[in-house]
Amino acid sequence: MKNMVKNEMKMEFASKSANEAFARISVAAFVSQLDPTIEEIADIKTSVSEAVTNSIIHAYPNKDGIVKLKAILYEDEIEIEISDTGEGIENVEEAKEPLYTTKGNLERSGMGFTIMENFMDELKVESIVGLGTKVTMNKKIKKNADLENTY
Ligand code: ATP
Ligand code: MG
Repeated sequence: MKNMVKNEMKMEFASKSANEAFARISVAAFVSQLDPTIEEIADIKTSVSEAVTNSIIHAYPNKDGIVKLKAILYEDEIEIEISDTGEGIENVEEAKEPLYTTKGNLERSGMGFTIMENFMDELKVESIVGLGTKVTMNKKIKKNADLENTY
């Protein structure tokens, strides 16, 4: 059957920079059940890192908050949801533009959303100022075994 949920995980952690690696490595370990390629794992890790870093830096700029992460595995796809209850984004379309950043003076390049958009198959950003932000990303996983069979 298509699009049947195979597995699901949820975690939440404090918005501390040390938890960026924790989140990225946890999702990489979880998606390994789908037998992804090294490139697919690298793309997913980078995208999770960008989204979690955004929540840590932008959602809770001067305080600690909670970042939630949910991952769902389908037969050949992963869906990852990263959410916070922080400041929110006024104009999501503008925020997604390459090089757009509200922290240019702090060595941010404004490429986070562009990276997520390029490395994943789908990116959805929902945000309400004062309530928080939810980023949902999907990526199809071409099984390693399938690739081997093509040789
Ligand atoms: P980079 O990711 O290259 O270090 P950046 O974080 O500024 O720079 P993006 O990740 O593309 O760039 O995000 C663009 C802008 O969207 C941010 O500068 C910030 O204003 C806003 N933003 C992104 N994520 C969040 C969030 N979770 N909460 C509040 N604002 C956010
Ligand atoms: Mg960013």
